Amino acid sequence: MQKGTINVQTENIFPIIKKFLYSDHEIFMRELVSNAVDATQKLKTLASMDKVKGELGDLTIHIEVDKANKLLKVIDRGIGMTGEEVDKYINQIALSSAEDFVKKYKGKSDADKNALIGHFGLGFYSSFMVANKVEIQTKTYKKGGPTKAVQWECDGSPNYTLTEIDKEERGTEIILHIADDSLEFLEEHRILELLKKYSKFLPIPIQFGMEKISEKTGKKDKDGNDEYKEVEKPRIINNTKPAWTQKPSDLTDEDYKNFYRELYPMNFEEPLFHIHLNVDYPFNLTGILYFPKVKKNIEVQRDKIQLYSNQVFVTDSVEGIVPDFLTLMHGVLDSPDIPLNVSRSYLQSDSNVKKISNHIMKKVSDKLEEIFKNNREEFEQKWDDIKVFIQYGMISEPKFYDRAEKFVLFKNVDGKCFTFDEYKKHIEKTQTDKDKKLVYLYTTDVDEQHAFIESAKSRGYDVLEMSGVIENHFINTLEQKFENTSFARVDADTIDKIIKKDEDQPSKLSEKEQETLKPVFEKFAKKENYTIIFESLSEKDQPVIITQPEFMRRMKDMSKLGGGMDYMGTMPDAYNLVVNSNHKVVSEILKEKDNKKQEKLVKQVTDLAKLSQNLLKGQELTDFINRSVDIISK
Ligand code: ADP
Repeated sequence: MQKGTINVQTENIFPIIKKFLYSDHEIFMRELVSNAVDATQKLKTLASMDKVKGELGDLTIHIEVDKANKLLKVIDRGIGMTGEEVDKYINQIALSSAEDFVKKYKGKSDADKNALIGHFGLGFYSSFMVANKVEIQTKTYKKGGPTKAVQWECDGSPNYTLTEIDKEERGTEIILHIADDSLEFLEEHRILELLKKYSKFLPIPIQFGMEKISEKTGKKDKDGNDEYKEVEKPRIINNTKPAWTQKPSDLTDEDYKNFYRELYPMNFEEPLFHIHLNVDYPFNLTGILYFPKVKKNIEVQRDKIQLYSNQVFVTDSVEGIVPDFLTLMHGVLDSPDIPLNVSRSYLQSDSNVKKISNHIMKKVSDKLEEIFKNNREEFEQKWDDIKVFIQYGMISEPKFYDRAEKFVLFKNVDGKCFTFDEYKKHIEKTQTDKDKKLVYLYTTDVDEQHAFIESAKSRGYDVLEMSGVIENHFINTLEQKFENTSFARVDADTIDKIIKKDEDQPSKLSEKEQETLKPVFEKFAKKENYTIIFESLSEKDQPVIITQPEFMRRMKDMSKLGGGMDYMGTMPDAYNLVVNSNHKVVSEILKEKDNKKQEKLVKQVTDLAKLSQNLLKGQELTDFINRSVDIISK
């Protein structure tokens, strides 16, 4: 037996490992299982080069618990180690890298600690976070020479022992004597949880215990139904060949959907479509991204992408690695080239990460363009679900804007879709105003703004449906990009004011007559703070129309979305009350000598205008109904 002292350079790192890494103790499982997978894969590689003689046998990695003796074991049938190798890899290399890790870790902020832990570094010695004693029993694959199996043992002090033992099977068995403050790691459900989290897609099968499965017996019962029996089978934790590691040409649409279900067992919606990424130069990146069906609240679907490094789960926080708008997507990314052991802010400025981010963005836009070109019908059908990604991307990433310009759609109130170019052609003739400015009309609510939409349509204008969550922002972006163009909501003003064609029509009311009428209207508009405006509209337009000026409304909408301008929320709504001086009813109101009757008429037409803006409520609505019944019954 060899006894020795591990060559601790600075100070005894065992207590430090235990103390400083308190919150992330569970990652020991990932480290040990990853080591077992590595050792097994090395063996397979050697075998493929004919450097290992004989059958490899079953390579399944086993996780075993012995609760009575407080033992947790990770057992592999990989390359194993000789005594010399244990001395070199465990006593020297692993220890010094663990020391490096601890040194790096100590001065860091919590956020950076998490990023650091997210990646690898602590390795084998992380087992001392949960164990007060660790044994390694290992037998190398090598034949001849000093190849006897050995046992290494260390109780968390810098002293270890290395002994020759009898061990039949090739490979390594790591035995953790779980410490009393970590007994949770002897619980089946906890181990299962960790294995599911970190090892779900590792490339070597991992078995933990048994599971009961009901299987057909092959017989039928008396009603002719299949008979089932319960059988016990080894419980294999992982899918060793997840979809992203396979060739796209070997996968069907159904395979991609099944993989989505495997990733998100609790999400019952099907994804809209997927993008399979596969890059090997200038960095390694594979993965599958899905467009999920959009939820009302887009934040709930954010941050669902899982990041792997050679099939080992690293983190589900990809912020900084993919452009912000793509964090709305779901799926997996696998890259050993993403340096996660650095701080988040460093990550964002890392040129490799930038390249990865740009590449993902390019792939996503290529895929969208491809669907748009090859199957525009499908693209239009899914538009309502994907538009939030595309608009968000165009708002936040100028590079994406330039790519998306080719396939982004406008949808009008009749459900017809247009590209930017198509739409421009569609409205150019009709909606260019007298100053040669092109005016885009839109609605944020087809029902509430119905009268205004109808009024625009009756003049041959087209109205876009822009009711999405971020479309206010999108419109701002478009106004900056489009030349000589403005956007106006259909009720921003009377339609003839929004798109000014010729000179105003002559007014039937003289200025003086308008002055006489104004106070009567003001009486009812004061409370709401409406601004009274007389306009010579068409005789066919309504006698009174309530409009909401574009600029003020947008400010309010933006502040509602939480632009940090909270004081805007308390700003009163700004409405204009437009009196159509060419309408017959308005002339009649003017002629009415009975003050009471005149007021009643003014109230009635004002209420009608409010009604069409959904502004008539409560007592006012009841009064309006009673008054209307009164008028009809006369
Ligand atoms: P890393 O895995 O990052 O190299 P570790 O501290 O986890 O660092 O392991 C150190 C070394 O010990 C490994 O590189 C490997 O050579 C050896 N080792 C650890 N676990 C095993 C195992 N299960 N089978 C064979 N060798 C192992």
